[in-house]
Amino acid sequence: MYSDFQKHLQKELQAIEEAGLYKNERIITSPQQATIKVSTGQEVLNFCANNYLGLSNDKELIKAAKKALDSHGYGMSSVRFICGTGDLHKELEARISEFFGTEDSILYASCFDANGGVFEPLLNEQDAIISDALNHASIIDGVRLCKAQRYRYANADMEELENCLKKAQAQRHRLIVTDGVFSMDGNVAPLDKIYELANKYNAMIMVDESHSAGVVGKTGRGTTEVFDLHGKIEIITGTLGKAFGGAIGGFTTGRKEIIDMLRQRSRPYLFSNSIPPMIAAAGIRMFEMMSENNVLQDKLHANTDYFVAKMQAVGFDIKPTQSAICAVMLYDAKLSQEMAAKLLDKGIYVTGFYYPVVPKGEARIRVQLSAGHEIVHLDKCITAFTEIGRELGVIA
Ligand SMILES: *Cc1c(COP(=O)(O)O)cnc(C)c1O
Repeated sequence: MYSDFQKHLQKELQAIEEAGLYKNERIITSPQQATIKVSTGQEVLNFCANNYLGLSNDKELIKAAKKALDSHGYGMSSVRFICGTGDLHKELEARISEFFGTEDSILYASCFDANGGVFEPLLNEQDAIISDALNHASIIDGVRLCKAQRYRYANADMEELENCLKKAQAQRHRLIVTDGVFSMDGNVAPLDKIYELANKYNAMIMVDESHSAGVVGKTGRGTTEVFDLHGKIEIITGTLGKAFGGAIGGFTTGRKEIIDMLRQRSRPYLFSNSIPPMIAAAGIRMFEMMSENNVLQDKLHANTDYFVAKMQAVGFDIKPTQSAICAVMLYDAKLSQEMAAKLLDKGIYVTGFYYPVVPKGEARIRVQLSAGHEIVHLDKCITAFTEIGRELGVIA
């Protein structure tokens, strides 16, 4: 029965491979951290993890998780509303609200689920969703599951957003949706201007802080801190899988009634398992650490500034970044792959991105900085970039 379909898949897979788009996974045999070991035995410096605060292998978080394993067991074996709600889940939700200055929070297995489950319960065909063209795939999928009228504006283009808002006056409620930090350029959404327009055109705002929470703003509160809008945004979604320890889990936080409604109607919440207690416990410890001081944010910001300045000084073309994402522009797809391969040979693990992940002719290597990096790591990376950049004629 399978043979026709098998042939079909083999052909499709071959086409993916021939287009140079086949994704091969590198196997890591050490914990996720600045220096990692891969299955070939090679030790490399990691500059492509979302481990922005260096917490993925943090001793405090591991301790909190181990303790909860002993006190609360391994799994919940239930969705939240049947018997999957533990005291640790409730405490973590309260911590998330406290961190973001919001009224209530709801946990999901991932931010992909949070975004997949946020639109459909809240809005219907009488409403409008106005979405940035570069929003994350999970937002795009979530919007698809909802019957609201869809509008799209070019990345951070406030003129286009305003036009959408004018058209969307025809609908009952309007929700503007944006990533806080866009993952390919590292730019921050112009939330101040979005907020002004939302007020002018009677719209609500949702920000996905996955790449920005813990990262941007002096205390890592995300884009709402950058623009002094703490507590003023209706809906924030985020992940525990990036800066916040990197394990698993997502959340939606915001207005009380919105979160209430999600608990009643959000399908990935109602029909998917509760996160393990140890993840909740580590999350609680993580938010505690965030409230104690800004040491990790300060280090991350200093590392990013240092890296960008040194790379620019040797002549690299760096996209203006306001986050821990640094796009080294190469423009040529093949060059981006060749350069990433040569960097790996020198022990620097980065990823080259090209069309269709980024626009045609805008190939690049994305470097992700971390508070887990030391200056020696940054220097080694900059030196490798400089040598290979000269060899390949990218810089003089
Ligand atoms: C990574 C990411 C997600 C998905 O988060 P997970 O918790 O890994 O599912 C959602 N939105 C944005 C903007 C992201 O960068």
